Amino acid sequence: PDANHVRQPLTLPPDTSFERFQEFMHRIGAIVGPENATVIASDAELQHEDYLDPSKAHDMYYVTSKEYFVSSAVVAPRSIPEVQDVVRLCNEFEIPLWPFSIGRNVGYGGAAPRVPGSIGLDMGRNMKTILDVNVDGAYALLEPGVTFIDLHDYLVKNNLRDKLWIDVPDLGGGSVIGNTIERGVGYTPYGDHWMMHCGMEVVLPDGTLWRSGMGGLPNPKADANAPPHEQIPNETWGLFNYGFGPYNDGIFSQSSLGVVVKMGIWLMANPGGYQSYLITLPRDKDLHAALEIIRPLRVGMVLQNVPTMRHILLDAAVMGDRKSYTNSDKPLTDEEMDAIAAKLNLGRWNFYGAVYGPEPIRDVMLQVIKGAFLQIEGAKYYEPEDMPDNLVLQTRHDTLQGIPSTTELKWVDWLPNGAHLFFSPIAKVSGADGVAQYEVTRRRCEEAGLDFIGTFVVGMREMHHIVCIVYDRKDPASCKKALWLLRTLIDDAAERGWGEYRTHLSVMDQIAKTYSFNDCAQLKLNEKIKEALDPKGIMAPGKNGVWPKKYKAADWSV
Ligand code: ADP
Repeated sequence: PDANHVRQPLTLPPDTSFERFQEFMHRIGAIVGPENATVIASDAELQHEDYLDPSKAHDMYYVTSKEYFVSSAVVAPRSIPEVQDVVRLCNEFEIPLWPFSIGRNVGYGGAAPRVPGSIGLDMGRNMKTILDVNVDGAYALLEPGVTFIDLHDYLVKNNLRDKLWIDVPDLGGGSVIGNTIERGVGYTPYGDHWMMHCGMEVVLPDGTLWRSGMGGLPNPKADANAPPHEQIPNETWGLFNYGFGPYNDGIFSQSSLGVVVKMGIWLMANPGGYQSYLITLPRDKDLHAALEIIRPLRVGMVLQNVPTMRHILLDAAVMGDRKSYTNSDKPLTDEEMDAIAAKLNLGRWNFYGAVYGPEPIRDVMLQVIKGAFLQIEGAKYYEPEDMPDNLVLQTRHDTLQGIPSTTELKWVDWLPNGAHLFFSPIAKVSGADGVAQYEVTRRRCEEAGLDFIGTFVVGMREMHHIVCIVYDRKDPASCKKALWLLRTLIDDAAERGWGEYRTHLSVMDQIAKTYSFNDCAQLKLNEKIKEALDPKGIMAPGKNGVWPKKYKAADWSV
């Protein structure tokens, strides 16, 4: 075929003829090289459905039709000036783009764009350098394609792990930048990734290059004649977040206002000792007492990290699929869950934590922690060597010290063709709130014919309650139930004053509207900023419910 031939995409960008799209792709090819510009023209390009080899073009955990959340083309720039050129070209053609880093944002949409036919801007393929690991300052400066696994491997290979640890989410294959700007979490004391970022370099919707905070102040050693992205940054860029004047980083998280091309992330000094543990709680109702114990310990920093309170079925699902436990096609009953817990030597709730520091510090912390939790009748304390066959405890032992893995992928296989959506409300750390969220979410899961699978991830003063909605993506009825469940839970939650911290493409509008205080003042401010920075509406339209003026949200309802 003619090298200049542009294939017809499955979905064209909005308001764009095929002729215009062809012209656009020729111009794009001239910027990034034809090998870095792929039109998504057939179902053959939608076959990647595996976390380990993820799709860059569609939501591989599709809950609507497989072809809905799909890019017209995937474009992978090789440098920052190329990103700037692509952004400017999108303005010229008024074609939307959707930046992503790796596309392993599973449960929330993966690499897929909110508006079908957007250009997927694959930032991870060619831009994946670890630009700096600053040992004294304990931070790293990264490009978008650097994954948690890459960063950890780098520390190991360079014999730096005795000095520095990273923090990782459950699955280590995603990018540090993507996860952090989506405000994802991990489980060490540095678990709140967004809190630990420091210094951003962003290509704005008009193509301008912007540095946050102290990065605004030129380094006197920098070559002022070099292009801005090459000028060595201020030496305090990665050390102090706020700089001078209004602090803008926040508008570039969960945002449609820029392409992040560099970011600093604080690393944890190796604490000089570590002990992970599991505390099992035998009864479903023990959740209440346990959360009341957790709150003062966490706020008081006796619990040093982001621990998790996991429901039995989450652990069970890591260790086997549903069929390995039951032949029933009804949601598992309390008696059945008790039996599974007994078989796995676990509780109905299982608390995974760790202590950090030299032995005397750990001993004191553990004494307090055990003293508090073991007041619950039947609660038991274990360390990893007590349960060598407990895959979850062995994996948490790594995760809680920042060693990445992909073991937790397994729970998605609870059902055949397993895929998942997350429902992720924020909860107070209190027995009453945790139990109330558990009751509502479990009841709705069961109404949908699904098992409740979930975990409470304990932040500094709140919990990210993560409900894993596992469904069979090849079964349209199962997809429909999953989406019904997610939508219903969002409304249930809003009625009770609970809001989600992050969500899947298909319900971004619904959640944005629940944050409705004072006539949707939050959404309106976001729309104003959007209009000011991105008047042509080319950057990730619809992301997190923020639509540019030229789009009518109703035209894109799912
Ligand atoms: P992961 O790195 O975990 O695989 P993704 O690459 O799927 O995560 O990114 C998740 C979301 O974060 C994307 O859908 C996009 O909204 C945002 N995002 C990721 N990388 C960038 C980036 N470099 N610039 C702007 N937004 C980004």
